[in-house]
Amino acid sequence: MPGGVSSPVRAFRSVGGQPIVFDRVKGAYAWDVDGNRFIDYIGSWGPAICGHAHPEVIAALQDALEKGTSFGAPSELENQLAEMVIDAVPSVEMVRFVNSGTEACMSVLRLMRAFTGRDKLIKFEGCYHGHADMFLVKAGSGVATLGLPDSPGVPRSTTSNTLTAPYNDLEAVKELFAENPDAISGVILEPVVGNAGFMTPEPGFLEGLRELTREHGALLVFDEVMSGFRISYGGAQARFGVTPDLTTMGKVIGGGLPVGAYGGRAEIMEMVAPAGPMYQAGTLSGNPLAMTAGIKTLELLKQEGTYERLESTTERLINGILEAAKAAEVPITGNSIGAMFGFFLCEGPVRNFEDAKATDTELFGKLHRAMLERGIYLAPSAFEAGFTSLAHSEADIETTLKAFRESFAAVA
Ligand SMILES: *Cc1c(COP(=O)(O)O)cnc(C)c1O
Repeated sequence: MPGGVSSPVRAFRSVGGQPIVFDRVKGAYAWDVDGNRFIDYIGSWGPAICGHAHPEVIAALQDALEKGTSFGAPSELENQLAEMVIDAVPSVEMVRFVNSGTEACMSVLRLMRAFTGRDKLIKFEGCYHGHADMFLVKAGSGVATLGLPDSPGVPRSTTSNTLTAPYNDLEAVKELFAENPDAISGVILEPVVGNAGFMTPEPGFLEGLRELTREHGALLVFDEVMSGFRISYGGAQARFGVTPDLTTMGKVIGGGLPVGAYGGRAEIMEMVAPAGPMYQAGTLSGNPLAMTAGIKTLELLKQEGTYERLESTTERLINGILEAAKAAEVPITGNSIGAMFGFFLCEGPVRNFEDAKATDTELFGKLHRAMLERGIYLAPSAFEAGFTSLAHSEADIETTLKAFRESFAAVA
């Protein structure tokens, strides 16, 4: 396997050392093949928001397994999860299930183009929308970590329609619209960024994009593959009160199985085959195991007090991390929303990917190793968000903060 992994960010290229090989996961923990236990802040890169291998998810999956792993035909489970997604996510009136976030994003781009009859799109530096050719321009963590500004194999002709702007920079977006009249199909972004480190939208940014896209007959697309069901049950759009035209989802809605989805205004979604002419399909899409894990996960998340708990766990963690760094006189800036957090080892504020590059990646590598030695598994990149779950207890957070205090002191 290239680099010994099935997905590049799993390798430890940017922090040094060898990746940990896992044997099993449960709750907030992961065990490696040597039996060492780690408190896990990656959560399979997002899906494990209820904790790994939640007993109710596992039980539901065992029942579903007995009924078969794939139907290749409609099932009630798809309707059930579709209804839950439509109820939860403000922009979604109609939804199509796919198998990954990448697939959701590449399909949504086709839809943006089909609906508007325009080819160009605007994305933001540092935002990741999966690995489809059109999006591999200034695409954040995985690419940043490897130091590849672009990927070989992506034809210029494919990315020539991809325009980029700095995150949180409305003026730059205005200029792109002015320079490309009637040519831009829409604007896609992570409403809260998790793939260039963790960055939040400044007041007015999302609202401004909503106005600009409307004014220019373009679509606004929130890529909520990471933020969906994580920073609130209705995602960033519910949290910030800005409703895009289309939304992509993944990670949490699959409950640990491969799922992606895209949805939005019915008028636009009616373009998708077989309702409309825009082709998009998938042999295993909406398969019963993935739908079951998604349904059970959303049921668990929907319970009273879930997000308050996730939020307070995450706030305690990030506040403790900031304090630990300050005590060791390590420059740091960071924050959290919902069950997502992040920090940069530099003076803030970090408003965009250019600012984020000031983070001390070498120091982060040392910190990462020191934390691993103390049984804490952080994302092996200075440009990734961290994830908490309902399974992270107060004791886990205390253990983690003690490790941060020791590690910051050791690497400072
Ligand atoms: C993870 C991610 C994707 C890609 O999803 P995959 O399931 O890995 O293909 C797309 N967009 C965002 C914002 C993501 O975080």
